[in-house]
Amino acid sequence: MEELAPGVFAGPRLPGANCYLIREGEVTVLVDAGMPGDHRRLADWLESEAIRLDVVLLTHGDVDHRGRAGELARMHGAEVWAAEGERPFLTGGLRPRRLLRRVMVHLIRPVPVDRWLTANDQVAGFTVWETPGHTLGHISLVRQEDRVVLAGDALVVGRQGPTLAARWVNEDQAAAAESGQRLCQIQPTLLLTGHGPPWRPEAGA
Ligand SMILES: [Zn+2]
Repeated sequence: MEELAPGVFAGPRLPGANCYLIREGEVTVLVDAGMPGDHRRLADWLESEAIRLDVVLLTHGDVDHRGRAGELARMHGAEVWAAEGERPFLTGGLRPRRLLRRVMVHLIRPVPVDRWLTANDQVAGFTVWETPGHTLGHISLVRQEDRVVLAGDALVVGRQGPTLAARWVNEDQAAAAESGQRLCQIQPTLLLTGHGPPWRPEAGA
């Protein structure tokens, strides 16, 4: 298991979005859960690494991040945590703006969430930031002490470094731009996103 920063590990390679593991003391948090079929692959990987989850945290409700968070959590006796602002999307009550999500929301089942997070909640040494735009309730995790950022899809890492997700997948482009800018302003030492490799500014693009 690759440790990207103290207590922060890369998850297994999944066909959907990247996922990460945070371990702080006794607490182990999986950040994002891949596609709905990926929970078995994730479960196998966790077993092979002898990891027991306490929390499955979702940065947002997109299908390539929510996976089967509930099933995976249940296998581990863990809880699912997600953003309060994402509640309508995760529970199937939202009519998203983007067509892809609108179709998807009918096809995938709601996620059972145990704890709804809001700005400044603390998760294993990280602070919850509300970073809306890509989805309306998207959250990111920021560790102030070393400026490690888990940005979900608030930013993606391309060849030129961090950038916004494509306009056609953002629910609110202006909000997405503002959220992306706020995250970049703290000058992350390590930026971990749902799509693209880990990004460290000193390493360049
Ligand atoms: Zn997304």
